[in-house]
Amino acid sequence: MGCGTSKVLPEPPKDVHLHLVKKVEPYSGYKNDIYKHFIKDDGGEAIKATIPSPPRHTNPYASGCSPTHLDQTEPRKNRVAKYRAKFDPRVTAKYDIKALIGRGSFSRVVRVEHKATKQPFAIKMIETKYREGREVCESELCVLRRVRHTNIIQLIEVFESQERVYMVMELATGGELFDRIIAKGSFTERDATRVLQMVLDGVKYLHTLGITHRDLKPENLLYYHPGMDSKIMITDFGLASARKKGDDCLMKTTCGTPEYIAPEILVRKPYTNSVDMWALGVISYILLSGTMPFEDDNRTRLYRQILKGKYSYSGEPWPSVSNLAKDFIDRLLTVDPGDRLTALQALKHPWVVSMAASSSMKNLHRSISQNLLKRASSRCQSTKSAQSTRSSRSTKSNKSRRVRERELRELNLRYQQQYNG
Ligand code: ADP
Ligand code: MG
Repeated sequence: MGCGTSKVLPEPPKDVHLHLVKKVEPYSGYKNDIYKHFIKDDGGEAIKATIPSPPRHTNPYASGCSPTHLDQTEPRKNRVAKYRAKFDPRVTAKYDIKALIGRGSFSRVVRVEHKATKQPFAIKMIETKYREGREVCESELCVLRRVRHTNIIQLIEVFESQERVYMVMELATGGELFDRIIAKGSFTERDATRVLQMVLDGVKYLHTLGITHRDLKPENLLYYHPGMDSKIMITDFGLASARKKGDDCLMKTTCGTPEYIAPEILVRKPYTNSVDMWALGVISYILLSGTMPFEDDNRTRLYRQILKGKYSYSGEPWPSVSNLAKDFIDRLLTVDPGDRLTALQALKHPWVVSMAASSSMKNLHRSISQNLLKRASSRCQSTKSAQSTRSSRSTKSNKSRRVRERELRELNLRYQQQYNG
């Protein structure tokens, strides 16, 4: 599941039934090749020079070279044929399977075309043979059926077979957040606040409904279309917790993606939707620098950094970033969840409010994209060397992204000993 393969499974939602849902019209300006259009939109010769032969997804924050772990060496035609065979005849009677665009531990995402209307959609196919797949699927459906918001991917209809569920969704053709940043010729604090405003709007809406995403990260934020004015959309609700409005019961499940996971989850305290706000702090930090606030190949050391809330603003481009932006991040990366900004408060933070309206801004693009690409290439190197010793790329990356129970237990024990005598 992209980078979201990090998953420890969520509490299964109650009363979920599969049925057909209402069909809505998707974006009609679909373009075939996302990357080509990035270049075209931005006129970026520099982009061509810095990314010689880009995969469709170059998100450096995924555990592998590509968050979707597609085997790029296999001819595209074969890949599509392989996945077409897995589709229920009811689905293929209505939709033409065009291309595989994403892949996770239990899911495959394909681009399809509605046979009658020729409209493009995405279908996420989830294997429900195993309990984990069923739970991910139920979480996702439970949320997608309830939501309707411009910054949240829209479910169109659902097909269910014995071993698989097929979710037909709006197709986001604009690529993942960081692909777009790298491809863009410039990136300013104002651009960052515009992205964050859209994500915060979606998160505020989710939180109002009693939904906590629990896996907010760049690869789950997709641009709707390749144009410069595209909105961004929150996707991947496989780890989401959906409660009834007003039900302020605390959550307990340990889940998420290690680098984005909030400290209270690590110490296994019952937690609230403020874990999403922590993840947004991590995303904001990356957006403004191209680097991670908390990073260590050793999971225990990574968790220790998170528990301490220890990160720094050293290195490029931090000297050029405003103090208000840093204040915004600091108020999200606050270890005590009670002191952390809510989505509404974050939307009202002076940095977000003032920056969104300002015009001239320092271009941070060079350092951010350099940092992103540096990380992408080091990730590719380590993935490649790991692949030579393992048989399956996706299995490897899935494992490496999972929050490991044993590590958490040990960490928690040490934490308790340290703080309770
Ligand atoms: P997982 O749970 O496996 O991470 P996601 O829902 O995140 O599943 O999908 C995996 C990848 O597939 C995403 O990172 C994205 O690149 C692609 N994808 C998912 N949904 C869509 C969509 N509606 N439109 C376009 N691409 C999508
Ligand atoms: Mg995902």
